[in-house]
Amino acid sequence: MSSIYEKYQLKSVINASGRMTILGVSTPRQDVVEAVEFGLNHFFEVKDLVNKTGAYIAELLNVESAVVVSCASAGIAQSIAAVIVKDNANLLVNLHAAALQIPHEIVLPKGHNVNFGAPVDTMVALGGGKVVEAGYANECSADQLEAAITPNTAAILYIKSHHCVQKSILSVEQAVVVARKHQLPLIVDAAAEEDLACYYQMGADLVIYSGAKAIEGPTSGLVLGKKTYVDWVKLQSNGIGRAMKVGKESIIGLTQAIESYIQLEQTTGQQMVEKMTPFISQLNALPGISAKVVWDSAGRDIARTEISFDEVKIGRSTPELVAALMGGFPAIYFRAYKANEGKIEVDVRSVTPAQLEVISTCIQRLIQGA
Ligand SMILES: *Cc1c(COP(=O)(O)O)cnc(C)c1O
Repeated sequence: MSSIYEKYQLKSVINASGRMTILGVSTPRQDVVEAVEFGLNHFFEVKDLVNKTGAYIAELLNVESAVVVSCASAGIAQSIAAVIVKDNANLLVNLHAAALQIPHEIVLPKGHNVNFGAPVDTMVALGGGKVVEAGYANECSADQLEAAITPNTAAILYIKSHHCVQKSILSVEQAVVVARKHQLPLIVDAAAEEDLACYYQMGADLVIYSGAKAIEGPTSGLVLGKKTYVDWVKLQSNGIGRAMKVGKESIIGLTQAIESYIQLEQTTGQQMVEKMTPFISQLNALPGISAKVVWDSAGRDIARTEISFDEVKIGRSTPELVAALMGGFPAIYFRAYKANEGKIEVDVRSVTPAQLEVISTCIQRLIQGA
């Protein structure tokens, strides 16, 4: 099927940026592909499929309840809608018909109001909520979170992500204490996180994951949590959720991916270091370049190669180098969040050793002006 690239004249890509939506996120294992294929080729009573796969996942993860959704963003929107609408049948189908007269403010630490590819507050608005920011861009304590709560608050939302400001931001455990005290649900967006149980165990009411990121499933999302809340999320499939319909193939594919994910041993950060060590030596032999191992800023067990460019010596800015590598054949995508500081990161999880060779050759050619 490599002919697909030829048929549509698509560019081939080396994904050194991690689980990125703009590149297709991940490439699931064969067992997941087979589960997706089975799903595509059969009919089911979809409600039965949703409920029984959800129960199966909940059992695997030792949580009360779970449901597969179309992506984590849809999980956020439907979780927000769920805590506002609850089981109100009229509101379910009229969420956006008129200004809401019931609690619909969603308290979010200001440093969590990020753009993960789309803004968090757009997903909240889609679910009928209105973001109320707590604290400051670089600071949110439990007291500051609490101060933003009013009788109009429907839930607290916590985004667990490297995108968020990490400085002086309260922990999930602290947010749980505040939520309990005010008898509000706590929703945790853990889209790219690797631990499928810890936020639930800490006391979050709903936790959202992206199916194709750490779990390496098909395009999908997972919402897990307390049964009542998950039941309300499921109801949304007859409301706003219909515009985010998840396919039978994704439901079966993600369920299989979760089972494999928790059974198979994961690649450790140390193994990633071993994979990138020859690559780092090659880069360090190049003039104007230094490379080293760095660890994930959100604390996950992920090691990456950080490449620093001596822009004066090389004679080009880092954003220019990044653009040139992205524009080349193959297109090479890095984590370029710090390009303005002269640094980029290489995420090796989806890169083969042969592709690492290609990357260092392309960088060498580029800085030598070839
Ligand atoms: C990726 C991501 C999302 C969106 O996940 P999708 O499954 O692509 O919708 C939401 N929040 C965070 C923090 C993310 O990293």
